[in-house]
Order: sequence, then structure tokens, then C-alpha cells
Amino acid sequence: MTIDRPFHKPLKSLDDALTELLGHAAPLEGQELVSTFEADGRVLAQDLISGLQVPPADNSSMDGYAVRCADLAANVSLQVSQRIPAGSSGSPLAPMTVARIFTGAPIPAGADAVVMQEDCAVQPDDSVLIQITPQPGQWIRRAGEDVTRGAVVLLKGERLSPASLGLAASIGISQLPVVRRPKVALFSTGDELVMPGTVSPQDMPPGAIYNSNRFFLRALLQRLGCEVSDLGIVPDQLDATKNALRAAAQNHDLILTSGGVSVGEEDHIKPAVQSLGQLDLWQIAIKPGKPFAYGRVVDAHFIGLPGNPVSSFVTFLMLVRPFLLKLQGVAEVAPKSTAACANFTWARGDKRREFLRARRNVAGGLDVFPNQSAGVLTSAVWCDGLIDNPPGQTIAHGDVVRFIPFSELLA
Ligand code: AMP
Ligand code: MG
Repeated sequence: MTIDRPFHKPLKSLDDALTELLGHAAPLEGQELVSTFEADGRVLAQDLISGLQVPPADNSSMDGYAVRCADLAANVSLQVSQRIPAGSSGSPLAPMTVARIFTGAPIPAGADAVVMQEDCAVQPDDSVLIQITPQPGQWIRRAGEDVTRGAVVLLKGERLSPASLGLAASIGISQLPVVRRPKVALFSTGDELVMPGTVSPQDMPPGAIYNSNRFFLRALLQRLGCEVSDLGIVPDQLDATKNALRAAAQNHDLILTSGGVSVGEEDHIKPAVQSLGQLDLWQIAIKPGKPFAYGRVVDAHFIGLPGNPVSSFVTFLMLVRPFLLKLQGVAEVAPKSTAACANFTWARGDKRREFLRARRNVAGGLDVFPNQSAGVLTSAVWCDGLIDNPPGQTIAHGDVVRFIPFSELLA
């Protein structure tokens, strides 16, 4: 769907832009084995199949006594015939006795329940009186209740989380096959940009600003598992831009730039990419955002983000993030939104689909940052997610809106 505007190039909808962009993201060839310790956030390259069941045997989930329920009918105290700590294996439970057992210890053959020690009274002769009537199976974790032998515990294309690493370890896996890291070259354009640390705030020349995009883009790329070559700031000159692009295209999967993708005469990205490869410059119907470029330079993908920091941040999250995940073979790349109630009014619905910086309050509603300008990076720090507001939509206090939490976008 495109939105026609007289005298302007039509804006592309975000959904159309994303579909087109993902169409270019052919999964990377190549995988590597990494230590399970190091695999957080990486994408699994093969299904992971369990060679054993977890837990390996029925075991106790309490400290207490393993009993045979039928033995308890007489309601007499029973002798403790064995002691089974975690890590040892007991022997079959002798009739009319109990076994002292600890959490994680295997259930002895013949026992059919565990009674927690709080429900037992140790008698002066060291026998034990069971003070409750246990249900068969009580406090027993069954063999294989977590993982059965031969089960696919993790799927190819899954992004590994801390819990996935634990699950892999639980089936004995010390190394995981993961998709190789995308190699990304990052550079910022803009003659006004100064690196923090090179000029102190009081010595900043007129017109200069610190380069903020470089910091969050690099961090976002790293969170997505990329190997980042940070090529710094490229001056607003056609030749310098071409040289930087040509060099970066040699050994990177993606060249990511910020700034210079508008069509002013100081914006050199467009002609530079066009002279070395091909470029589609898109005006996307989102706010903040709008200018966004996709193309190719030799064999590398090229993505140009807008320079305004919040535009850069939001277009990264909505477009570059899914692109990089798809490149790594992730099947599910769309962030999940949730419904939440607006604790504010939004009287000026924009023509474009808007991503409002908002955060949840203690009552579960959403507050919105008062200044939604594309240059106000404070909003992106203050918020904990984005409201996905359809074009032209005003919001009244109490309206239900779609909210994409940062847990979906920054992980
Ligand atoms: P541009 O897209 O190059 O026209 O830049 C749009 C706005 O974003 C201008 O106000 C730039 O000064 C600002 N900007 C561009 N790049 C950066 C950056 N790396 N860090 C902070 N602001 C930037
Ligand atoms: Mg610029």
C-alpha cells in the first residue's frame, strides 16, 4: 500500500518496506561451533535433539522420606532403612520402612511417594511417624517430565536465550552450532559531528554536535550478534563517501550508515551508492523515520538510516533489526505488541504511522513522553517501548493502544 501525496514521491508503508527489505535478506551461509557459555543471543543453526531423558530418573522434589503409601495404612512409625542424598542411588525400599531422601535424589524402587520432613515426626527410637496421608506420586518428579529422549529441545532458527543455554546444558551439550555472526560496517555521515572525548563541551565550535548515533547503533548491532567494524565519521563529500563504501563492501555483509540519506546537496549517500551499486531510496510513512535507503554495494547489503537520532533509533528497531535476524535465519522476526490503556490524550494523529515513545506506569497504563521530536533522544531513554499508532489516529484517555515493549525490540 502506498499513500499518494500530490507533488511528492509516494510514501511506502512500513509493512511494504519491511516485506521488500526481508525479501533481500537471504540467510547467511556458514555456521560455527561455540561454547554453550558463549552462545547467548546467537541463532541456532541446527535442531538440537536430546540423547537422554531429563530428569534421568524419578527423583524427589523435597527433603523428607520416601514411602510406600500402602505401608502407611496401619499408622505406625516405620524404621529408616536407608539414606539417599542427591548424587547417590538407593536400593529397593524394604517393606514397612521408609528411606531418608533429599531433593534431587532418585526414588528407590518400591517407593511411590515422598513425604516432606515437616510432615514427619522422628521418634525417640529413630523411627519415623508419617503424619499425613500422601497421594501416590506426591513430591516425585518423573523421569523425562522435562525432556524425553529424542525430543527436539531447541529449533534451528531459534535465538538462544539464557534459559536455552541451560536447557542445552541439561542434555549434555557443551558446544552449540550457531549461524556465523553478520559482519556489519558502521559509519556516520555529517560534517557537524564530533566524537565525545575529542572536544570538550565548552570548546565545541558553533554548529557542531556530538555523534550520538554511532554509540547506540553499535550497541544495537552488538546485541543482535553482529561483528561490528566501526568506521567512524565520514565527511560530507562524495569521494570520501564512495571510498568508505567501497572499502566496507569488501568484507562485510551489511554496510549501515546514519545521516545523509535525504536528497539535499550535502547528502552524498545516494549518489555514492548509486555509482558503486544500486540504491532504492524509500520515503517510509512512519514518524519518526521517513528517509530510509536500501541498496547493494558490490556484494554487500547497504542500509542508510536517517540522521535524526530518534529516527535512526526507531528505523533500526523496526527495519534493521528484523533484517539482521532474518539474515541469521531467525524465523520469527516481528516484535509482539501488547494492548494497553493510554493514560494520556493524543490530539494530533499524524498522516504517518507513528511510533510514540511511551512507558508503562505502576497502574499498568501507558504514559507518553511529552516531546516526540525526532531529535529528542531523551524520549528514547525515558520510554520502555513504542506505541504503534495507526495513521491519523487520535488517542483519548483510556483508549486501548498497541504497545511494543523494549523487551521485544532491544533483546
Ligand atoms: P541528516 O539525515 O544527515 O540530514 O541529519 C539529520 C539531523 O540529524 C541533523 O540535525 C544532524 O545534525 C543530525 N545527525 C546526523 N547524524 C547524527 C549523529 N550521528 N549523531 C547525532 N545527530 C546526528
Ligand atoms: Mg547530514
